Amino acid sequence: MERIFATERLERILPIVRTFVLEELVPLEKDHLARPFKQTEKILQQKREKVKELGLWNLHLPKEEGGQGLTLCEFGQISEVLSLAPYYGQYTFNCQAPDIGNTELISKFASAAIKEKFLQPLLEGKIRSCFSMTEPEFAGSNPTRLATTAVREGDEYVINGHKWFTSSADGAAFAVVMAVTNPDAKPHERASMIIVPTDTPGFELVRNIPIFGETGEGWASHAEINYVNCRVPVSNIIGEEGMGFRLAQERLGPGRIHHCMRWVGIAEKALDLLCQRAVTREMEEGVLLGEKQFIQGFIAESRVEIDASRLLVLRTAYNIDKVGAKAVRDQISGIKFYVANMVLKVLDRAIQVHGGMGLTDETMLANLYQHERGARIWDGADEVHKQSMALHILKSYGLDVKKKR
Ligand SMILES: Cc1cc2nc3c(=O)[nH]c(=O)nc-3n(C[C@H](O)[C@H](O)[C@H](O)COP(=O)(O)OP(=O)(O)OC[C@H]3O[C@@H](n4cnc5c(N)ncnc54)[C@H](O)[C@@H]3O)c2cc1C
Repeated sequence: MERIFATERLERILPIVRTFVLEELVPLEKDHLARPFKQTEKILQQKREKVKELGLWNLHLPKEEGGQGLTLCEFGQISEVLSLAPYYGQYTFNCQAPDIGNTELISKFASAAIKEKFLQPLLEGKIRSCFSMTEPEFAGSNPTRLATTAVREGDEYVINGHKWFTSSADGAAFAVVMAVTNPDAKPHERASMIIVPTDTPGFELVRNIPIFGETGEGWASHAEINYVNCRVPVSNIIGEEGMGFRLAQERLGPGRIHHCMRWVGIAEKALDLLCQRAVTREMEEGVLLGEKQFIQGFIAESRVEIDASRLLVLRTAYNIDKVGAKAVRDQISGIKFYVANMVLKVLDRAIQVHGGMGLTDETMLANLYQHERGARIWDGADEVHKQSMALHILKSYGLDVKKKR
């Protein structure tokens, strides 16, 4: 098949990654639901060592940090292939969220001391991290209303606040915490990002929050956390005071490419299962499900929507590489809501085609749907992205957008 965004080095790396994923990770996934994640982590540790030996570790990083110096557009295509093992692909190659976002952020904006203490072990895969911004009491869609504070006392920040949905906090070595340091500044200049090691007195992991009934553990979990008089050195700040929102935007641009390509990979997997079912399920003697036009419609629509998503995301990645994320923020918003909806639609069709079995754990479809339903909510809910994109378009038609905040 013609690959529009192919490059020579990608054509060299991609087949090796694909073979590893199909041979080493996909077979592991059949027992995914039967095995607690912490048990799987031990098996994945060995696989991670193999990835290092093959020179495929940290593929998302620049050469000087031990990666291959791939462009975002190239890495996006790797991300899709990793998602052929949707639970373990990214994790095994050390490019899993939320660590990938944190490493990009720290590597670009943090001091040399922070890099040595927190980034280096993260890059080596010795520790994990998490990102702690959303609070139960305030709308995450308007993060300027954060209540968590970081008050400077001498050479320390004293952090107090209540967070939830801090993904992967269970077992993480540190959290990047978004907290208000400058309450009197303009709304988008009030918050800062500060590193809080999870062994800091006052870091209280209350619980892993059950999602659709699944509590999860370790990397595969979402925690509620209380920060109670957590004291950290002021040097733990990333960038400068008041830069929190700017950094959050920086973190999200490439992050959306990573996630969207992951969803493209998951949708391919779902369509594959759908088609396999369509050619094996007999509806009456000699008549297979795939011969029904409704099902053919599902297949054709899914094929086109997946292909359209891939092209949209890679075009956006290509443009980020060329002109930076800020210049193509509408494209980034567009892929976020379009591809999040696409993967859920394709998963839903695949579930439908499996009948009752589609709702069980006999295939991974139901579990993937459960895991990915959040795609339309986190990193900006659909409505937020649509509004931002539409207002930007309308502004070019002269609409005077009144900012309330
Ligand atoms: C699985 C998962 C993992 C997550 N991981 C993290 C993490 O690691 N770290 C972290 O800090 N946070 C994380 N989050 C939190 C996530 O970022 C927030 O849930 C998200 O920002 C939405 O905030 P909220 O839940 O407070 O919903 P709200 O802001 O209360 O919004 C509720 C709903 O209102 C609607 N809405 C919002 N704005 C508008 C608008 N302008 N117009 C019309 N309708 C609108 C949308 O439908 C939205 O879903 C995670 C969430 C999930 C589900």
